[in-house]
Amino acid sequence: RFDGVTMAPPDPILGVSEAFRADTNAMKLNLGVGAYRTEELQPYVLDVVKKAENLMLERGDNKEYLPIEGLAAFNKATAELLFGADNPVIKQQRVATVQGLSGTGSLRLAAALIERYFPGAKVVISSPTWGNHKNIFNDARVPWSEYRYYDPKTVGLDFEGMISDIKAAPDGSFVLLHGCAHNPTGIDPTPEQWEKIADVIQEKNHIPFFDVAYQGFASGSLDADAASVRLFVARDMEVLIAQSYSKNLGLYAERIGAINVVCSSADAATRVKSQLKRLARPMYSNPPVHGARIVANVVGDPTLFNEWKAEMEMMAGRIKNVRQKLFDSLSAKDKSGKDWSFILKQIGMFSFTGLNKAQSEHMTNKWHVYMTKDGRISLAGLSLAKCEYLADAIIDSFHN
Ligand code: PMP
Repeated sequence: RFDGVTMAPPDPILGVSEAFRADTNAMKLNLGVGAYRTEELQPYVLDVVKKAENLMLERGDNKEYLPIEGLAAFNKATAELLFGADNPVIKQQRVATVQGLSGTGSLRLAAALIERYFPGAKVVISSPTWGNHKNIFNDARVPWSEYRYYDPKTVGLDFEGMISDIKAAPDGSFVLLHGCAHNPTGIDPTPEQWEKIADVIQEKNHIPFFDVAYQGFASGSLDADAASVRLFVARDMEVLIAQSYSKNLGLYAERIGAINVVCSSADAATRVKSQLKRLARPMYSNPPVHGARIVANVVGDPTLFNEWKAEMEMMAGRIKNVRQKLFDSLSAKDKSGKDWSFILKQIGMFSFTGLNKAQSEHMTNKWHVYMTKDGRISLAGLSLAKCEYLADAIIDSFHN
């Protein structure tokens, strides 16, 4: 019976926070989970979120169940943010949008759709990728394999490898792409490279499947960060896109996001949406309302919308500042001649340091710097004041 249940391993990302909490050293630093912190390293609730919540209280919004597909005002706002309000796919009602349980739940719902309607179809994912992608497809029983992405020699994109692996995948595969700020590497294709990726996906009759977890958070601009998705949509392809508001609105625990399926006709979109609802109903019945209302209130009010954009720029700007300071500290302190410029080329919340597993463990064991074992550090959890300390830790660990 339950006595026979074995111990599960700790989660490679969330397990880092558990270990961090148990550490009593004053210098400890949590660079594991990707969550924004202030310069004082405190969690941050956006001002626009508080204002949107006040609006909800003033209006006396109730707690009735949402429909299975979620809050209509949220679904409209989220699709418009992603595609742009004037996008023909919205005008032609060719997008099936269903509110999901943040990015993870939306990806999981898409995986369930793939498992049910594309039996045997494979998802190809970048190597490396966000740790939870493999769990999601494994749990949904969707077969997956990896395409090359990261080149350790250049600490950059292995574009040739990526293209040839996408070409080699069976026709009609789903190609999982990070819309912007690739996690964990922070390395994105250039606009020209995105065009070539789209060419190959079209040639092979693959279906692009975007994970958009950082819209507005990577560059500070909602439109710039959605450019990759819009480029594919403009080619009249069918596209799957999962969205998350964890980072860009700081709504981590509210679990708010969406899955969008761009179809070839309004009729197909209606049918796809009906099936997404059918999959959601036995899993969680209907999604939570609080985060959906926050997003709808912020996007639906021009003043709040502008304030949100300013706060996003502020968060993205703070991360860029610590990125620069970390680079400066490493370059000044390291006497080995190592080129640290890759840190400045990466974008988004993370830096992929190139530290291997043993070196990452050294960071934690000796320096109390908590990070994932793949060498990824979250710059959102770093302050300017801690950059010098971190640089010492990284240099020591590299040469250890
Ligand atoms: N995809 C990627 C690439 C992510 O980095 C994250 C957050 N770390 C997510 C999806 C989803 O997070 P959430 O479920 O909190 O939206």
